[in-house]
Amino acid sequence: MRQKIVAGNWKMNKNAVQTQELITELLEKLPQTEAKVIIAPTFVNLAQAVNQTNETAIEVVAQNMHQAEGGAFTGEISADMLTSIGIKTVILGHSERRAYFHETDALLANKVDTALKHEIKIIFCFGEELKDRQDKQHFNVVEYQLKDALFHLGENAWQNIILAYEPVWAIGTGETASPEQAQEMHKFIRETILERYGNTIADNVSILYGGSVKPDNAREIFSQPDVDGGLIGGAALKADDFIGIINGI
Ligand code: PGA
Repeated sequence: MRQKIVAGNWKMNKNAVQTQELITELLEKLPQTEAKVIIAPTFVNLAQAVNQTNETAIEVVAQNMHQAEGGAFTGEISADMLTSIGIKTVILGHSERRAYFHETDALLANKVDTALKHEIKIIFCFGEELKDRQDKQHFNVVEYQLKDALFHLGENAWQNIILAYEPVWAIGTGETASPEQAQEMHKFIRETILERYGNTIADNVSILYGGSVKPDNAREIFSQPDVDGGLIGGAALKADDFIGIINGI
């Protein structure tokens, strides 16, 4: 059985006090669930969040990471720095990193390799832009994002990869892919992996959907056969909304 996952990407939100308060509320309200629950606070609050969630059902992950081992990269964070405070998973390739910080699939392939070398799992984000879908290029775009960033990996690496399909036109816009659109793309992603890596890996990889998931649409999206959970932005910033989404699994 594939792992179900609900992950909250807090982006550049919540200061230290707010981080502590939201985690306290989440821990109080967290339901029994078969899903793995993940939150990604900003770098400066990671260490405190790891401590606060120690021995709880919430895993704290990082939103990004630099590909170099260390050195003269002012303002950047290395894999070793993350593992040294207990981080075991990193989000890579979020569309905001791609758009505002010019991260390409070639760069992301490097980041993926560095993370794996440090035994850090990866939530790998990808997805087409609106114009790609309008031009009917969305399957192509997604296929090449996967191939260019991940298909150099050997089979064993895949136990450390979680995929997050996030159509850029649905992120933070209030516009969600319909459950049918999500399922259609997730099925395509799984088939693309099947062609390259075979049945076992394709069957076992969790594919999350991201883009304006809310408590009132989560259940329908999560009920699609190839959707294994969600990567949540805006609605992860309020405990009740995030819990509502977890209840949709
Ligand atoms: P959103 O963000 O839920 O606010 O659309 C999703 C994401 O960026 O991961």
